[in-house]
Amino acid sequence: MFRLVASKTPLANIALRNAAVKSIRAPVATQFYRFYSTPADTEYDVVVIGGGPGGYPAAIKAAQEGLKVACIEKRGALGGTCLNVGCIPSKAMLNNSHIYHQTQHDLKNRGIEVSDVKLNLDQMHKARVKAITGTGSFKTNTEINVVGLDGTSNSTIKGKNIIIATGSEVTPIPGIEIDEKKIVSSTGALELEKVPKKMVVIGAGVIGLELGSVWSRLGADVTVVEYLDAIGAGMDPELAKNFHKILQKQGLKFKLSTKVNGAKVEGDIVKVDVEAAKGGKAETLEADAVLVSIGRRPYTTGLGLENVGVELDNRGRVVIDSEFKTNVPNIRCIGDVTFGPMLAHKAEDEGFAVSEMISTGHGHVNYDAIPSVIYTHPEVAWVGKNETQLKEEGVKYRTGSFPFSANSRARTNDDADGLVKVIVDADTDRILGVHIIGPNAGEMIAEGVLAVEYGASAEDVGRTCHAHPTLSEAFREACLFASFGKAINF
Ligand SMILES: Cc1cc2nc3c(=O)[nH]c(=O)nc-3n(C[C@H](O)[C@H](O)[C@H](O)COP(=O)(O)OP(=O)(O)OC[C@H]3O[C@@H](n4cnc5c(N)ncnc54)[C@H](O)[C@@H]3O)c2cc1C
Repeated sequence: MFRLVASKTPLANIALRNAAVKSIRAPVATQFYRFYSTPADTEYDVVVIGGGPGGYPAAIKAAQEGLKVACIEKRGALGGTCLNVGCIPSKAMLNNSHIYHQTQHDLKNRGIEVSDVKLNLDQMHKARVKAITGTGSFKTNTEINVVGLDGTSNSTIKGKNIIIATGSEVTPIPGIEIDEKKIVSSTGALELEKVPKKMVVIGAGVIGLELGSVWSRLGADVTVVEYLDAIGAGMDPELAKNFHKILQKQGLKFKLSTKVNGAKVEGDIVKVDVEAAKGGKAETLEADAVLVSIGRRPYTTGLGLENVGVELDNRGRVVIDSEFKTNVPNIRCIGDVTFGPMLAHKAEDEGFAVSEMISTGHGHVNYDAIPSVIYTHPEVAWVGKNETQLKEEGVKYRTGSFPFSANSRARTNDDADGLVKVIVDADTDRILGVHIIGPNAGEMIAEGVLAVEYGASAEDVGRTCHAHPTLSEAFREACLFASFGKAINF
């Protein structure tokens, strides 16, 4: 078990903060761990199970609130899925494969000549953060049994409050066996030893598109098979179409409205059986590697929830109320293992809020202002409602768009695919949604999140001075369009 302990002293809070970055700064963390954690420390105000982006910020925040906190993580390193096999390693691969692709295909046009560009996949895999831990399970609603990393050592710690933050795992497809060599999940797709000649990606959601892009840039012939008739897991339909075209232009192939019936390894090849989603002509695709990326599901295996009677819904999510409380009031839950989008920053915000709830009785997450980003190139980012949702809700709205092809910075950078689209309330002009495809959309969306969070109107943003030449001017122009019916530069 990695036990983070904080008393009511500020120094202990610093210790917790340092310990929370153990995977990056192991020697410092070990020092604090020895200093503050003793066998006598078995009773806490808060025990957090899971040290991912939900769990460890919850532990830090609870310590900052002056509570005595323990955080149990079975992986051996803090950071959860995000740091170990998710956000961070995938973004490292995305960034490095983008640089490789750009060096090969784009630098010459920019007047930079390089020769002898080679891919060193081993080195690309190493250019990432690696991480380290006990497994916690409920004995009672205040007692957690902890089995150490060696699998034999046992201890019990007590908490007045317990926070479940055990995250999620890959959703398997019945009948398809993931061996993490030829048929891989996102975890295996981050570790492939060589670039596959042909790759089939099952699922055109965020993870499938990001990792499909990585391997396509490195030279694989990638086909993405998607059950729905659009890519992008429910993003705004106009952006989904636009994004689809851009990815096709980059060389990715798509089979939409297509279901996968099975996949099996035969020698060096994987055969994937597909057919039209509505039934129809069946065919078999052949690939050197297949990525299964149809989503993730809540992870509660071995947690002993049955010992305390914590309720799960029919999708295996821990059921909570607006204060993150389960049906057992001193047990709360945050992150991927409960409702809401499976995103690191959503888990983190819930981590802060749950600890404030415990210490002060108040805590807040605005679920209408949680951004989503797909870190392809160009990036796709959005916040708030999309057109499909507003139509379903019967809300009257207007839209305003601005293409990056009319944005001076994007053109200067010769990186002008995409657009900004703003959706506003038809009566009040309040910004209801912001949707961006473009270079740095993941950074640009922060302005949209702020606008949604503070209830800004499109006119507010349209009248706000934006530096020139910047990509963010495209956001302002889209707002001018939404508010006044026309942009300035398009
Ligand atoms: C390939 C990939 C890319 C992603 N990219 C992004 C991205 O760019 N942006 C983004 O916002 N999100 C991204 N995500 C999603 C993000 O990783 C998750 O939403 C986030 O990690 C959820 O945080 P969490 O704390 O709820 O759970 P997790 O990060 O899953 O952490 C839970 C932790 O609990 C531990 N645990 C489980 N059971 C026990 C137990 N009984 N005892 C002790 N410890 C236990 C686990 O070992 C794990 O470390 C990505 C995911 C993947 C797979």
